[in-house]
Amino acid sequence: MLAPDFVSHAPGHWPEVPPADWNDWHWQQRHRVTTLSELEKRLALTREERAGVLLAGTKLALAVTPHFFNLLEPDNPACPIRRQVIPRIEEGWDSPADMADPCGEDSHMPVPGLVHRYPDRVLFLVTDRCASYCRYCTRSRVVSGAGEQELVTDFEEAFRYLEKSPAIRDVLLSGGDALLLSDARLEAILRRLRAIPHIQFLRIGTRVPIFMPQRVTPALCAMLRRHHPLWMSVHVNHPRELTSEVREALGLLADSGIPLGNQSVLLNGVNDSVEVMRELVHKLLLCRVRPYYLYQCDLIRGSSHLRTPVSKGLEIIQTLRGFTSGYAVPQFVIDAPGGGGKVPVNPEYVVSKGDGRIILRNYEGRIYEYPDPVPVPVRHHHAAEFAAL
Ligand SMILES: *Cc1c(COP(=O)(O)O)cnc(C)c1O
Repeated sequence: MLAPDFVSHAPGHWPEVPPADWNDWHWQQRHRVTTLSELEKRLALTREERAGVLLAGTKLALAVTPHFFNLLEPDNPACPIRRQVIPRIEEGWDSPADMADPCGEDSHMPVPGLVHRYPDRVLFLVTDRCASYCRYCTRSRVVSGAGEQELVTDFEEAFRYLEKSPAIRDVLLSGGDALLLSDARLEAILRRLRAIPHIQFLRIGTRVPIFMPQRVTPALCAMLRRHHPLWMSVHVNHPRELTSEVREALGLLADSGIPLGNQSVLLNGVNDSVEVMRELVHKLLLCRVRPYYLYQCDLIRGSSHLRTPVSKGLEIIQTLRGFTSGYAVPQFVIDAPGGGGKVPVNPEYVVSKGDGRIILRNYEGRIYEYPDPVPVPVRHHHAAEFAAL
């Protein structure tokens, strides 16, 4: 089997930009494509996309970093990268199942900006901005500044809540994207969290290494490694997103001792195929990233055109499990509407259980039986029991 390739798409639409600018994340951030006219200079938009862009101004802003923009196929409206970041007219549709806050986050905030759903960990929304905006964003109600609702995070109150909640041992920084904060601002937050004795484990959920790998500087890595154990979840949906620059950025993070996981969202016309997902998980392992979750797309307003049947996710997992490295197989989950949290959804490998045995189906569909053990109590044995030895 051929090793997958990691190609660079730079400078693409920006041939005139000196490499020193291109490689500067502030330059990338300042030169994001955010308007219809900038978009039309570089892409032949379809009517559906044009209408989508006009709509985006009042819901979820349009923004794509130059690095990521170069991955879009200019002549292919069905391009899987394009579908993730270029708005479409369907965003204006409201399907009856749609919700503004599908994961019920707003009702699980003890403090503005802090979502406390599970007993021992919290989600801390530290900014409302991202490097680029995913059209299926589960937090589109509050990010990007375009919608009606605003994210208000009360940092001092959040730290106080964490200080008086000894059950919380794990804090997940997200937003928005925490890696858009300056090194100094991010470090101030990490330091403050590290000063709370019961907080053991820190993690950052980010798509910045994918949208803007230039952000992953040696200085950022040196800062992050001062706060270990610190883990990171990135968000890659399609193998083409793993460019040579992204692989390098992920390598720097891994070299800094940061265990990396990936969270993909299963999306219609993007990665709802066994072949695409297989290539993705293999490329992730080469980048030292462990596929962590595969999400069923949330019921976010205006995303019905991107959602897939649940059976598609099950089919994908079933074609990976056993057929490839176990490290390459993510857990498929549905974030339960209304705030139930992530629920694992698995292909069925247990055919039946009872009568002291369990009937199993392996990855090839063969049937096996395992006699269910009756526990043997741990005890001291009488001298007589050793007599035979
Ligand atoms: C996803 C999530 C977490 C983290 O869940 P893990 O399964 O531990 O990765 C924590 N809090 C909230 C609100 C979440 O949505």
